Amino acid sequence: MAAKFETEVLHGLHKSKQAIKSKATPIYQTSAFTFNDLDELEGFYQGEGNYLYSRVGNPNTDELGSSVALLEGAPAGVAASSGLSAIMAGILAVAKSGDHIIAADDLYGGTFHLINHELRELGIDTTFISFTDLENLENNIKGNTKLLYTESVTNPLLRVEDLKNVAELAKKHQLAVMVDNTFATPYHCKPYTFGADLVVHSATKYIGGHSDVTAGVLVGREDLIEKARAKVVNLGANLSPFEAWLTSRGLKTLALRMKTQSGNARKLADALSSNDGVDKVYYPFDEGEEGFGAIVTIKLSKKVNVDQFFRSLGWVKIVPTLAGVETTVSHPLKTSHRALPPAAQQELGITYELVRISVGIEHSDDIVEQFEQAIVSSKQE
Ligand SMILES: *Cc1c(COP(=O)(O)O)cnc(C)c1O
Repeated sequence: MAAKFETEVLHGLHKSKQAIKSKATPIYQTSAFTFNDLDELEGFYQGEGNYLYSRVGNPNTDELGSSVALLEGAPAGVAASSGLSAIMAGILAVAKSGDHIIAADDLYGGTFHLINHELRELGIDTTFISFTDLENLENNIKGNTKLLYTESVTNPLLRVEDLKNVAELAKKHQLAVMVDNTFATPYHCKPYTFGADLVVHSATKYIGGHSDVTAGVLVGREDLIEKARAKVVNLGANLSPFEAWLTSRGLKTLALRMKTQSGNARKLADALSSNDGVDKVYYPFDEGEEGFGAIVTIKLSKKVNVDQFFRSLGWVKIVPTLAGVETTVSHPLKTSHRALPPAAQQELGITYELVRISVGIEHSDDIVEQFEQAIVSSKQE
């Protein structure tokens, strides 16, 4: 019987061959590796699994890439210096100058910039459209389309992607599918098992989980991961050994964190649903009894002064990121979605009243109380 997620996340992970049997993986904080003779050096180039130079490969970055691959049910993985560089490596493994991509129109802002500016300048053209209408999606496929790019759970409105049908459509047209699984994590959803070819994480978020590293991981089909690894190596987008080590350390508690944080998020979403200071709660209520993800987005009602609300949150800090163990809030309109044209902000529903909550591991009663009192403190006539 296959080990359950909680077990796999601890025991199934990549272990490097160690002469000294330390319980924790040592940090291979080295830029390069030594060789006893030219035969051993030649062995590296023959693929005998040695390490040469840390930009090309390092046991700590390998540990992280393989571990996330295992949890996602994918055959291979590679770590990168950030979520964005992992996304870049993944896209460049599939598309080159002259090719076309179709991407969801509600992507993370940084990804939108990468695709719409940097990759466009490199000659990769992209159509941004809603993925909710699959017929419209299919109508936008062109002769040079190579990739469908989306997120399993979107930011900040938490739309859950219909991954099975998107993957089916891609198969029909021989396109690759790449999914950003940062918000859901493999604890809740494994896009590779739904037919995605590449799955990417900003490991800065839940994979690391402690707000102390910037890192990315790309997992998926072996041939595509080998191409992406070459991009990471040649573009110098490798993750440092220490950052990889910290991220792997955080990953060990992913199941515990997601279980607690998602459970707390569900309770907060339920409580705020019946609060008259809140017009709308965005949360994938239907996806799981114990909660589905640890992000809750709310639209404050006209009864609440938004600026005062942000000032009244006590120990809940305003932070333009998410997924740490502490509960935090962000203001999408003025941070992550600031660069979107006003019309797009309006169309997506990114308004001044929108608050994204990243729910942490504190006691759920305290979290709920903190938000309820902030609403009471910021009520206006
Ligand atoms: C943060 C984030 C990214 C970018 O990751 P970095 O580690 O900041 O480069 C990409 N996608 C999503 C969904 C994110 O939340």
